[in-house]
Amino acid sequence: MKNQVRVRFAPSPTGFLHLGSARTALFNWLYARHTGGKLILRIEDTDKERSKKEFLDEILDDLKWLGINWDEGPIYQSQRVSTYKEYALKLLDKGLAYKEGEAIIFKVEKSHEIKIDDIVHGEIIFNTDEIKDQVLIKSNGLAAYNFACVIDDHEMGITHIIRGDDHVSNTPKQVLFYKALNLELPKFAHMPLMMGKDGSKLSKRHGAVAVSEYRNEGFLPEAMANYLLLLGWSPGEGKEIITSVEAAKLFTVEDLGNVQAKFDVDKLKWINGEYIRNKSTKDLLALLKNAGKIKSDISAAQLEKIVELYKTRFRTFDEFEELTKCFFTDDFPMDEKAQKKLDKHLKDTETKKALSEFKDELQKLQNYNKEEIEKLCRSTAEKYGLKPAAVIHPTRVAISGMTRGAGLFEMMELLGKSKVTERLTKVLK
Ligand code: GLU
Repeated sequence: MKNQVRVRFAPSPTGFLHLGSARTALFNWLYARHTGGKLILRIEDTDKERSKKEFLDEILDDLKWLGINWDEGPIYQSQRVSTYKEYALKLLDKGLAYKEGEAIIFKVEKSHEIKIDDIVHGEIIFNTDEIKDQVLIKSNGLAAYNFACVIDDHEMGITHIIRGDDHVSNTPKQVLFYKALNLELPKFAHMPLMMGKDGSKLSKRHGAVAVSEYRNEGFLPEAMANYLLLLGWSPGEGKEIITSVEAAKLFTVEDLGNVQAKFDVDKLKWINGEYIRNKSTKDLLALLKNAGKIKSDISAAQLEKIVELYKTRFRTFDEFEELTKCFFTDDFPMDEKAQKKLDKHLKDTETKKALSEFKDELQKLQNYNKEEIEKLCRSTAEKYGLKPAAVIHPTRVAISGMTRGAGLFEMMELLGKSKVTERLTKVLK
């Protein structure tokens, strides 16, 4: 069992789960699952002022949502104060640390080289001249982050530390503690930080950066996990759609590339769309309802038809909501461009006559279904010497307020005769 991989994810509950942290968690999970090792969840809650229960709950919910399960923990640093103290006292005894009031401080010997063999970056060399003496235990009795981290990683038997590049500068300090305490060093893998599409640090400027925002918007967790794992790894052969379970079979920590991944929400939407298309209509409907995207008393059968018709046309639940408004309310918004197009069509007398006749004939239609509607549309256009498009386009705008959507005749069938003719009547006035 000694060689079993043990990795950890160590969030601080001082804020929401950032996309970058979720990616870190995911790669630790992938590696644990790939090797049959263990993922340990550690909560770094030593900052009493800033650590909040709400943040912790949200982080745990986000991890579960993404399918990242852990094998041990959560272990709370706030409950391990005396352990850190014990180790600090050992360093004090050895003469490697000194006291400043209640605080215990580690003495950093100058002019030493510290070499870190990083899996992602290769060798990184630091000089202790750049490192000042390190606080181990603060005057309030709590351990400083770098020290608590080392003690925990040691006691939890962590073999690989996979984390973001923002921790590279902490690593030489941590290595000093390992050496001073005669502890075995874990392997380090620092992943380049996730950037925004424009190459600058990912921030709110680029869109939502909290996992919970995507969760609340109704993004599919499989799609989110799939996208995050592409930001630092590739299954090869141009493959992009891969579930985390499949990825775990392939991924190994040596695969982590030293490339700065850029978060691109359009790519995420595209992947989300791929997962949407692979869901059954029933499942999708349930998910849409759950996400609060369907508030109506329309029958389940009718709802399923709407979802089915639009399944290949929306990438996010928001897009579904936007595209299908006309099925849920008569008060759907009229797109400005669409309105202009409609006005232009209606200025043509022949078109207006054709539309009016189309509406009257629809009303009389015995078998109101998409085939019959289409036949009628084409014959009416022909009668007035028009192309079918001259009837199709304004009709689409009249019934949906948009110039895009599903196939018009299918939409008309689903909406039903009375709604369609009502809406045509309205625009013809
Ligand atoms: N608690 C640290 C953070 O939230 C992680 C520390 C680590 O991974 O070593 O960034």
